[in-house]
Amino acid sequence: MPKRGAVPKFLFPKDFLWGAATSAHQVEGGLHNQWTVWELENARALAAQASYQYGDLKNWDDIKDQATSPVNYVSGRAVNHYQLYEHDFDLLQSLNMNTYRFSIEWSRIQPEEGAWDEREVAHYRAVLLALRKRNIEPVVTLFHFTLPVWFADRGGFEKAQNIKYFVAFARRIIEELGPIVQYVITINEPEAYAAQSYLEGRWPPQGHSPFRMRRVMLNLAIAHNLVARQIHRMSDHYLVSVAKNSVYIYAGDDSWLSVMAARVAQFFQDDYFLRQVMHSCDFIGVNYYFSERLYGFRTHNPESRISDMGWDMEPKDIEHVLMRLHKKYKKPILITENGLADANDVNRQWWITQSIVAMQRAIAKGVKLIGYIHWSLLDNVELDKGFWPHFGLISVDRRTMKRTPRKSAIWFARIIKQIQEQE
Ligand code: BGC
Repeated sequence: MPKRGAVPKFLFPKDFLWGAATSAHQVEGGLHNQWTVWELENARALAAQASYQYGDLKNWDDIKDQATSPVNYVSGRAVNHYQLYEHDFDLLQSLNMNTYRFSIEWSRIQPEEGAWDEREVAHYRAVLLALRKRNIEPVVTLFHFTLPVWFADRGGFEKAQNIKYFVAFARRIIEELGPIVQYVITINEPEAYAAQSYLEGRWPPQGHSPFRMRRVMLNLAIAHNLVARQIHRMSDHYLVSVAKNSVYIYAGDDSWLSVMAARVAQFFQDDYFLRQVMHSCDFIGVNYYFSERLYGFRTHNPESRISDMGWDMEPKDIEHVLMRLHKKYKKPILITENGLADANDVNRQWWITQSIVAMQRAIAKGVKLIGYIHWSLLDNVELDKGFWPHFGLISVDRRTMKRTPRKSAIWFARIIKQIQEQE
């Protein structure tokens, strides 16, 4: 770890994408989708369960008031990125980033079945043009966990016959906005969505069935393939992928059981889904947050550093994730998300530096890494946990909506600048 003031020297390709990500539901505010309906119905229950869910966290005393309050679980105005996007892009640019990943909210574009809202299409066109004006490359996500209420009521991605609605939405977006876009992520974290929503029961519609989860994953793979094929037919300039949540899973000892358990778990974590969609991906989008160390079937992590959400922090392990995906699929890789909940900004600078060191190593070993997108640009609503986890490079005071870049963001900006100036 270099001294606080000194930025370490890194070498990255000239056209490397350096950026930050958000998703519509987590930052925009003013939405009506399956998730906002669920939040209103469940806010009280989520608040009541907070001490059971999060009471063991080391920062429980700091988050207790917020986590036990129902308003924490209602996204509401979120951080009003819908109106403040120009200001947010100025900040992104001032932090030397050249890339922004965000999602287009389907429930805005198609609030009712068959009804297309032209004003919302115009809104996202303005967003894309605001990025282009600042020389920021957009990476557009089509499905980041939220769905129009009518689509969810029809059974969402559980029903194969509903896939056509998503394909039609994607076609509309590409027809309208395609000329301003090159990178398209069809689906964010398909496996996390299917598991949390249909197996673990944490996200809407709170299912508890491995069969439902499996069906959703299969339908998401079909949906991705249909959308990707359609986009490629429209023009060959598009670069399409999913954002796959990867976890580096490794054996804690060299017993046969640990080694086999880690291999099987890794297969189901990454390859079960990726194998179904890789043929229609131009690159691999990968989200990395944590690793898992297995002893037999038990997970026992080193726990040397823990994030505000209780996740074990091993940022350097991203090298293993990159190496494995590279060897297996031999495609360019874009890190579409990577980051940590760190309200006091005590670990983020270390995390970013470690991640970049690991990326540099992977590139030296032959990985075709095209970019690094940090989660997140702004503090936002962390899905079912509400507002207490702070993932932002930029903190947001939700009473005034004032944005303040954290120290770690300034550090990241200095690293990017130093790399760009070497060119
Ligand atoms: C998701 C984000 C989420 C982040 C942190 C990813 O699983 O794509 O929506 O906020 O991780 O948990």
